Amino acid sequence: MNEPLGVTILGSTGSIGVNTLDVLARHPDRFRVVALTANHNSEALLEQCRLYQPQFAVMADPVAAEQLQTRLRAASQPVEVLAGAAGLERVAALPEVRHVMAAIVGAAGLLPTLAAARAGKRVLLANKEALVMAGPLFMAAVREHGAELLPIDSEHNAIFQCLPPGFANAGLEAAGVRRILLTGSGGPFRTTPLEQLAEVTPDQACAHPNWKMGRKISVDSATLMNKGLEIIEAHWLFAAPPEQIEVVVHPQSVIHSMVEYMDGSVLAQLGHPDMRTPIAHALAWPQRLASGATFLDFTQLSKLEFQAPDFGRFPGLQLAFAALETGGTAPAILNAANEIAVQAFLERRVRFTAIPAVVEWALERVAVSVVETLTTILAADAAARMAANEWIATRTPEQ
Ligand code: NAD
Ligand code: MG
Repeated sequence: MNEPLGVTILGSTGSIGVNTLDVLARHPDRFRVVALTANHNSEALLEQCRLYQPQFAVMADPVAAEQLQTRLRAASQPVEVLAGAAGLERVAALPEVRHVMAAIVGAAGLLPTLAAARAGKRVLLANKEALVMAGPLFMAAVREHGAELLPIDSEHNAIFQCLPPGFANAGLEAAGVRRILLTGSGGPFRTTPLEQLAEVTPDQACAHPNWKMGRKISVDSATLMNKGLEIIEAHWLFAAPPEQIEVVVHPQSVIHSMVEYMDGSVLAQLGHPDMRTPIAHALAWPQRLASGATFLDFTQLSKLEFQAPDFGRFPGLQLAFAALETGGTAPAILNAANEIAVQAFLERRVRFTAIPAVVEWALERVAVSVVETLTTILAADAAARMAANEWIATRTPEQ
């Protein structure tokens, strides 16, 4: 019997983190939770420590780390508590860890996810923002340090499953791929009259028809910026030029994405919309593992619909394609401005329709440079946040 593989979950208290723990708990003979991390909710991480007994627990917020430390001691739980960015990077690179689930939301996940790649781990990538910001550096780190990169985003996991083994070395052309068809549900406002979009509330935006997710990605799904980020993510993961990536709206979220080959074949991955499926796939690959997801009953499936995306209604999609075409730090600028705009919308400081406007403004204002080092990316990220905040500060909430 092999030793269980050590796993670190970056962002264990979030939607993906909790789903990952659910899958791991089904297979205690195969996996061992080594480290769990959260931002500032020490209560939630304390409960996870009680249930999963990791060796390490990291809180990004140092005050929350102290609270966690005190309460773990009181409960006689032998968990080593670490704090801040250094703590996150350390647990991403521990020698006893083989798999790192990168499930922190936003740019905050970049450094620990990169640390996992540099330590040659299997990186289970949910944190798409990290790849959007730092695509060339991240992919180079994976190659140089012999890391394995497995996509968790349901679409990219589906595409990975529809590509032949070894495609990463040979490239899409050698694999005979004509197009990658990235499906998306169209979000909660797919059919909402255009003039009502300015009035939608954060709770309406977060009520996704098929998936229950964290609030940031839920808003991204509503603006379709999530699909935009996913186009950039697909570009890096599969070395796919933008013109070979096509978005198809598929409201039922049963087909998670497709790959079209030059002979006319189209391979699709289907399943009940449940993130435990891609999580189990990436944990076990190239084997398979029970995930707890419900199985599809084809006789009960209603019709599957497909539409072209509405670029006019959802400018985020066009902005992402443009940022990818521009290259350099443009995707990092797009991502950072979007994070600021989404946060402002969730705090009701700007309207829903302001989100793409803020992103467009930042892309116009911040100079794009060639991605040479991490410093270049972090500078672009900071400049874009500043530009986005400027836009927001000079507008009333009515705009
Ligand atoms: P979430 O908001 O539910 O969870 C985020 C996690 O990150 C939490 O554990 C939180 O404590 C941690 N975190 C937040 N800010 C942090 C910071 N500054 N420093 C350290 N930790 C921090 O988000 P989620 O829905 O689980 O999404 C996580 C990532 O996975 C995102 O990048 C998202 O795009 C991606 N993703 C999610 C889903 C989904 O179904 N939820 C699907 C595909 C991709
Ligand atoms: Mg997705």
